[in-house]
Amino acid sequence: MITITKDKYIYRMDKLNKPVMEADPGSIICFVTNDCFQGQLKTNADLVADIDFGQINPATGPVYIKGAEPGDTLQVEILSIDVAETAVTVAVPNLGLLGAEVKSSQTEVISIKNGLAYYREQVYPIEPMIGVIGTAPLQEAVPCGTPGAHGGNMDCKDIKAGSTLYLPVNVDGGLLAIGDVHALQGDGEICGTGFECAAEVLVRVSLIKNQQYNMPFLTNKDEVMAIGYGETLRTACERAAAGLLDWLLSQKTYNFNQAYMLLSAKMDLRICQLVNPQMTVRAVLSKKDIY
Ligand code: CA
Ligand code: CA
Repeated sequence: MITITKDKYIYRMDKLNKPVMEADPGSIICFVTNDCFQGQLKTNADLVADIDFGQINPATGPVYIKGAEPGDTLQVEILSIDVAETAVTVAVPNLGLLGAEVKSSQTEVISIKNGLAYYREQVYPIEPMIGVIGTAPLQEAVPCGTPGAHGGNMDCKDIKAGSTLYLPVNVDGGLLAIGDVHALQGDGEICGTGFECAAEVLVRVSLIKNQQYNMPFLTNKDEVMAIGYGETLRTACERAAAGLLDWLLSQKTYNFNQAYMLLSAKMDLRICQLVNPQMTVRAVLSKKDIY
């Protein structure tokens, strides 16, 4: 197994980033990740206003997958996500869906033990998921806080252990990087943070040659999903639905209208988050509805 330590990170998904490691297709890789604040918030007294915003949303990596070339796809199986013993979440004026109503900044540090998060007086079973995971884009660099066709800060709570994410290879080696794990996050991530934590993310990375989805695609044992992004929810929904429709046409002998009608009857559009520089939505179809 290969381990990428958390001191090897990037703030931008960029074809010019120097790989920190090379790995053969099929390798199992452990990405040790920082939280999205890079550990700067340690107690409830530490406020977002006091931290260095140059150190936000680090992603561990990037890893160069040998033989990966533009036009291929990386298949990333999420094997496990082990979270740290503390997480942090914040409310900050003008951040998030209701940020205009937040009068003062607040930080809550959450302890995590045996799969449970202790938030105030309550206990919540954790559901660890990956916020940031992506490859280098073909064009200019994209900050790790921004999602796009290359992946990035999708904040999709279905990117969790047991799921498989497909990402486009835009440059030689793909340049995979992972960060921003959440112990818990709701669809929407309305205040701008989930329960943010450092983690160890174990993945198996395989290479699918000469086949590319033009967007992140996700599967688990029950469902297939396309993850769309956009400046508006409408645009993100259009991209997500079009991506799933294209995939369906490639799999089955529907014509466009037949696939469109099936998705209207059976596909769900779910908000991943609407607080990042681009919003993300996933289009979800149950495998049992594909004949
Ligand atoms: Ca995030
Ligand atoms: Ca986050």
